[in-house]
Amino acid sequence: MPNGFDLHTMPIAQLRSWLLEHNRQQSEIFCEPDTKGLRMQHRGMHPTEFMALKCMDGRLNLPLIAQIPLGIVQPLRGLGGKFDLGWPYLGEVVTDWVRYSMGKGRDCIILVTYHWSRGDKHRGCRGFGNDEEAARAYTVEFTAQVERMYGKRHATVYPVRLGVETDEDALVFHGVNGKVLDLSKADGYTETDLRVALADLFPDMKQRMLEDLLPLAVGNVRHIAEVRKSNRPIEEAEHRERIIGAGRGFDWLHILNLAFLVGPFDPDLAKPIRTAAKLIADNLTAGRVPDDGIVLLTCAPYREEAGYDVPRATEKVTMLSRFALSVIEDEVPDLKGRVHLITGVVNQHTRKLDEVSL
Ligand SMILES: [Zn+2]
Repeated sequence: MPNGFDLHTMPIAQLRSWLLEHNRQQSEIFCEPDTKGLRMQHRGMHPTEFMALKCMDGRLNLPLIAQIPLGIVQPLRGLGGKFDLGWPYLGEVVTDWVRYSMGKGRDCIILVTYHWSRGDKHRGCRGFGNDEEAARAYTVEFTAQVERMYGKRHATVYPVRLGVETDEDALVFHGVNGKVLDLSKADGYTETDLRVALADLFPDMKQRMLEDLLPLAVGNVRHIAEVRKSNRPIEEAEHRERIIGAGRGFDWLHILNLAFLVGPFDPDLAKPIRTAAKLIADNLTAGRVPDDGIVLLTCAPYREEAGYDVPRATEKVTMLSRFALSVIEDEVPDLKGRVHLITGVVNQHTRKLDEVSL
């Protein structure tokens, strides 16, 4: 971290202030002509729309580990990355996104992710009880659900099963024919090698979509090489989260292993919040982070300044913040009175968070 800052050890009140300052800086960067240009260039060259279903785990951050610009992949977060398109709000969000993409003449790739650790089963996914097989089997089920809803693979909505090995942040692509591309073993692969390998995994995928999937593989090979070169200590691949992010609109956070992110999708909303709170309480008592409380960061995104968007986001985030706080304090009494709140609405055009008063 710059200036001797360590987000995993600084006092929690300082971390809360840092978050607000970080959001301000990240929003500025997001809006800078260079960053905007890069994002628009990427969009222009790679028109396919991406959505990623991910575990709430703080170690999963696709833009960082695949080295792609922020704002390209739309992340949806939940416990274990385990979703069901029958969940009323989730079905609506995904279908709205598919309709929006089709209206723009763009194809859609849904990254159905799971994660595990090669070095130690216990660094795996708690949402699946550290059971890598169960997590992988779930991705098969969800893929079938996507196909039931949006048509077969060669159509415009294509689900891609993707594993994330968190010790090295390595991506593993699962092909439709049982073939696998494990990027931890792709050291030295050129862009052409990766293009050929992906085409072999997804023979029925449109050329355009393959070309748009390719940058994730290329970026991840580069990222893995950097992780290996940096000799990242293994403790950094262990849980060190101190923040619960509840709601949506967190991609400006852009830091590995600092926050559990819980989307508002599971009809049993208390479950992922409770799990995240217990995992953070573990981090505190095990001494992996200072034992001085947590931050509950609750966000709701909005698009339009005018009209109903802002008031609706404000009502939503207020409800969610109160709800999450009561779940945390009721279910994890250790954290009672030690939860530092940030509650805000996030402008999707700028990623700027504005706090709302509760
Ligand atoms: Zn997980």
